[in-house]
Amino acid sequence: MKNINSYRKFKRNDKEVNPDGEYILYWMQINRRLQYNYALEYAVALANKYDKPLLIYESVMVNYPWASDRFHAFLLEGMKEHLHELKDTDVNHYCYAEQEAGTVEQSFYDLAENAVAVVADEYPVYIIRENNEIMADEIDVLYISVDSNGIIPLGITDKDPYSAYLFRKVMQKHFLEAYTHPPKKDPIDDLENHKKTKLPDGFEEKYPRADKILEDIPGFISELDIDHEIGITEKKGTRQYALGKLGDFIAHGLSRYDEERNDPDADAASGLSPWLHFGLISEYEIVKAVLDHQPKGWDLDDITPNNGKNSGFFNGDPNVESFLDEVITWREVGFHFAHHRPDYDQFESLPDWVLKTLSKHQDDEREWVYELEEFAQSKTHDEIWNAAQTQLRQTGIMQNYLRMLWGKKIIEWTKDYRTALDYMIELNNRYALDGRDPNSYSGIFWCFGRFDRAWQERPIYGKLRYMTSDSTRKKLKLDRYLDKYGSQKSLL
Ligand SMILES: Cc1cc2nc3c(=O)[nH]c(=O)nc-3n(C[C@H](O)[C@H](O)[C@H](O)COP(=O)(O)OP(=O)(O)OC[C@H]3O[C@@H](n4cnc5c(N)ncnc54)[C@H](O)[C@@H]3O)c2cc1C
Repeated sequence: MKNINSYRKFKRNDKEVNPDGEYILYWMQINRRLQYNYALEYAVALANKYDKPLLIYESVMVNYPWASDRFHAFLLEGMKEHLHELKDTDVNHYCYAEQEAGTVEQSFYDLAENAVAVVADEYPVYIIRENNEIMADEIDVLYISVDSNGIIPLGITDKDPYSAYLFRKVMQKHFLEAYTHPPKKDPIDDLENHKKTKLPDGFEEKYPRADKILEDIPGFISELDIDHEIGITEKKGTRQYALGKLGDFIAHGLSRYDEERNDPDADAASGLSPWLHFGLISEYEIVKAVLDHQPKGWDLDDITPNNGKNSGFFNGDPNVESFLDEVITWREVGFHFAHHRPDYDQFESLPDWVLKTLSKHQDDEREWVYELEEFAQSKTHDEIWNAAQTQLRQTGIMQNYLRMLWGKKIIEWTKDYRTALDYMIELNNRYALDGRDPNSYSGIFWCFGRFDRAWQERPIYGKLRYMTSDSTRKKLKLDRYLDKYGSQKSLL
């Protein structure tokens, strides 16, 4: 039987390894961590197999979609952390921060010329998906992408799951095997060849190391041709910060998660999505840390497949069960969906029942219609919606329940559905630190009925699930939230 982790590897071209190459090149594109990283682990195994050193290449482009101070700072802080961590070691690590568009791509091709083989991060959306599809064809050596995104390997599903229930069934079948074949904590420790890598001639002059730049991240960013309106937040894009957040969540949020995660005032959710997005922390280590907090006496034998139901699988603390359903099932269903669906971000990818009902209601009269920048600047008539958008614009995050309301109302208050979809993608990915992720598309398309079922028919929404600010106000504790992000402040 195949080892479960073999379903994480994707051969991206039909080239061979070049045994005369200088190094195994690991291109760290999205899972930007040195720990619990299957791709790095695989790169180390290849380096050992061919008795070559390993080169870890970390780069930041300047012209990625929605490039701004916010994302750039977050990315560069993570890079700087690696630089410090590896400073006094013999690990070959090269950081490059582009100033001129196109040079990252060129630098990758230059490095690939001297490589034995290339290992990259598998990722089903955004420019990383395109890089893995297009750039692999342009090089002369083997290019393998490795999935280190979640617990259930992307290669396990054979088609796109259309509901969380369906994916949960798959998850329940494979969880134990996947969880008991974890990524190594420190894969670099296994590296055998510690020689200094020989870079292509002139490489360092052409693509200067980012070491100096990283000493003054805001100064460097201010000179770049990126969106300076989207400001840096106080959240640091480092692994240390993520581990601190995980610790805080386990100490203060986990025991209240099931009951209070939806209340903006309660602060009971983990807040980990930006660090998960940039791969600074692995889903595996979050799941492990949380399972370690099951009640005394609980062990893995207590897990029982439960036909896709969202409780009665982990069989311990209901808070743990509820959190793991979000971080495993709800997080990964979007990864698996996008993995099988290149059209994951297209309106036409919506289920047939949605396309049918929306086509029937496309000409329904809208009482309120806003343009993109009115939404962006929190200028709607609705206090709760404006507060949620202000939180997103100012801090780079938005609380989960309000995110659903936020999306549903954009559908209701935009001139047509396709424009609403474009606005949601734009606003989410422009402001959210966790944006441009498979879960961005899960969440946005969930508002349009993906992974959901038909509900009672209404104007504009058709059979889509409906949400209102009034019921949100009754259901949730929002006083402190509105005080912080409410209308007066939002319009300043
Ligand atoms: C319109 C809309 C847009 C969204 N955009 C994004 C986005 O850009 N990036 C993003 O990561 N998530 C997005 N989500 C999903 C969800 O809102 C966030 O993952 C969650 O709010 C993150 O907060 P947290 O880390 O405190 O979550 P927690 O409740 O602490 O959960 C832990 C982790 O589980 C995963 N998770 C939790 N809830 C969901 C969910 N409903 N769907 C998928 N995964 C989930 C996330 O990885 C999260 O970090 C969106 C949802 C909606 C409705």
